[in-house]
Amino acid sequence: MEERKEKMIVIFPYMAQGHIIPFLSLALQIEKKGYQITFVNTPLNIKNLKQSLPLNSSIRLLEIPFNSSDHRLPPETENTDSIPFSLTLTLLEASVSLKPAFRNLISDLVRGGAPPLAVIADIFFGWTAEVAHEFGIFHTIFSSTGGFGMACYYSVWMNLPHNYTDSVEFTLPDFPEAGLIHRTQLSANVLAADGTDPSSKIIQLLLSSWVDSDGILFNTIEEIDKIGLYYFRRKLSLPVWPIGPILLSVDSRARSNKVCGISSESCINWLDSKPQNSVLYISFGSQHTISASQMMQLAKALDSIDINFIWVVRPPLGFDMNLEFDAVEWLPEGFLKRIEEQNRGLIIVKWAPQVEILLHKAVAAFLSHCGWNSVLESISAGVPLIGWPMGAEQFYNVKYLEEEVGVCMEVARGTNFEVRNEDIVKKIGIVMGENGKGKEIREKACEVKKMIENGGRDEEGYKGSSVRAMEEFLNVAAF
Ligand code: UDP
Repeated sequence: MEERKEKMIVIFPYMAQGHIIPFLSLALQIEKKGYQITFVNTPLNIKNLKQSLPLNSSIRLLEIPFNSSDHRLPPETENTDSIPFSLTLTLLEASVSLKPAFRNLISDLVRGGAPPLAVIADIFFGWTAEVAHEFGIFHTIFSSTGGFGMACYYSVWMNLPHNYTDSVEFTLPDFPEAGLIHRTQLSANVLAADGTDPSSKIIQLLLSSWVDSDGILFNTIEEIDKIGLYYFRRKLSLPVWPIGPILLSVDSRARSNKVCGISSESCINWLDSKPQNSVLYISFGSQHTISASQMMQLAKALDSIDINFIWVVRPPLGFDMNLEFDAVEWLPEGFLKRIEEQNRGLIIVKWAPQVEILLHKAVAAFLSHCGWNSVLESISAGVPLIGWPMGAEQFYNVKYLEEEVGVCMEVARGTNFEVRNEDIVKKIGIVMGENGKGKEIREKACEVKKMIENGGRDEEGYKGSSVRAMEEFLNVAAF
């Protein structure tokens, strides 16, 4: 019994691809170090995960009961990627109902003679700390978001309201190091929040339980994310371990049953036919889309600038995400035909093999909403970003990557922004340009790629910062 206690870790992400993917990747990494992993999630997510596990993995997938219909959600929807964006708060609220079932699950493990050594839970599942501690189990949060973005997000939500001043720019009271925050860097639900509305109630409740945890793991690298990590060290007086980048391998992704709008082979073949550093990759992650008018402007920009591109499209804002993509309605007349004739654009519907694309030498830049997984995948491949943040902490990821790290240039903000195709053309031109600012940004991206590689180096006589942080966490958890 003692032997198993020392070796088993329970891992429990929130029900969203941007959370499940890095948690799975973390699980696989920790498993390699000789730990037994129990990966907990709701039935449909577990069903999907079964296919992502490598054949030689002994990760145990454990279902926690959840019925979406009991929570004002459509039937059989257990992941943010299967609900409209407007229901994401409902799913978040519903997730708190998992607490009794999680307690039963841990209790069963303990009574079954396999008490876990530690629980690693999502940023939205800080409440699991209380359960873990009830059973004397070490608890840590794993933030799949970077330090700076998460620190701003945390501070913004914990220091409400933000509508008390006319000023368009302000400083966060407990995070002045973040510099000026502009009102357009607050999502609509933050601007409307005052601590009593549904969004602030649930988010403040979830974030305030962080302090109950025994530490925080961050999917980031100490060297490029010091300011944000320091915020949490100071604010919560907890150990903070930057262990990133934790990225899911191409193989594991290929095994997931996420249906790509194109086979990896066709996509790679297309990229193989393009010169080095000539392709712009465009995607807004797993949950977001832009408005119909923004989509038109982006298409017009791509029409008028002579670059190769891959664009992952889904129906614009206000339409059901699961609808067929109607190119005639949502793209300029003749756009697809022109792109095909010029053989310079690949339109992929809904889901693309993103990591393979970013690792391809033909890709020069990534126009992204800058969700943190996309950011890590991009900068690990040395690919600079053109930022178009959509919500949550993405505004601050872009701010940090542009102002502090120097690997990004913002082009637009959110779905209400009246972006003009000329401005998109200009930013793409700068970042993909051979000289000036573009050259600077690309050189910085290569430098950051090296820093990331260095952080993950584990050789005789040298351990990178992320390797050391992981070792420290595992030692503390085992103590
Ligand atoms: N992703 C992908 N193909 C797509 C869109 C997204 O593989 O067409 C993956 C992407 O590689 C990343 C995740 O989905 O790992 C998205 O996470 P991120 O944090 O970037 O954004 P979110 O979707 O959570 O907003």
